[in-house]
Amino acid sequence: MRTPMIGITTETSANNEYTVPVEYVAAVQRAGGVALLIPPGQTNLDALLRVLDGLILSGGGDIDPVHYASPGHPAVYMIDGPRDALELELAQLAVAAELPTLGVCRGAQLINVAFGGTLVEHLPDEIDNTIAHRREPQGAVQHAVNIAPGSRLAAILGSGEMVVASWHHQAIRTPAPVLHVTATAADGTVEAVEHPGHTWMLAVQWHPEMTAAKDPTQQQLFHALVAAAQQYHEARSART
Ligand code: MN
Repeated sequence: MRTPMIGITTETSANNEYTVPVEYVAAVQRAGGVALLIPPGQTNLDALLRVLDGLILSGGGDIDPVHYASPGHPAVYMIDGPRDALELELAQLAVAAELPTLGVCRGAQLINVAFGGTLVEHLPDEIDNTIAHRREPQGAVQHAVNIAPGSRLAAILGSGEMVVASWHHQAIRTPAPVLHVTATAADGTVEAVEHPGHTWMLAVQWHPEMTAAKDPTQQQLFHALVAAAQQYHEARSART
């Protein structure tokens, strides 16, 4: 039995470094996985896929609006072309390989765009102001989401209302045809999606990694990913 290898995507910082918050790595390690950081622009993805047992498409800056046929918005920030290209390809490969995949924040938006969905370019322009989804101009806030009963997400976290850590100014507008919406906020914002045609592809608009160290419910998402990765690895080993 091998320890599951969980790839975590990273971004290019303003200082030309590859970065990802340590909380993603810690959550994977607590769940018993090995965290492998994947830089933007990585090629030879077939070789990478042979090593990975699971994938986290992590949070970060905005996806270039050209990828969902949008003219853009002045509030769009931190576009990372090599990261977009890598992650859009990884999302397709993850479906083809049935690789267990967790999307977080930007990662949820990325999965949606990869399969033909669109995004709200700047949420404050389009929702009522009853719920803050980030502290302006930056920082995390807490708000409630409502998780749909019967979803894979509900099987992991439970259904109904749950308070989560939120830090985003964009969200899913039109869900991709292959995705199901599995959680929403009271203002109508899409807060989670999953791919019912895939063994384990879930995505949340909130940040489970931010609270997972102290919140066993949010940590459970990472445990579930690593458990799915373990099964994926064993099934693949049995075939070869
Ligand atoms: Mn939110």
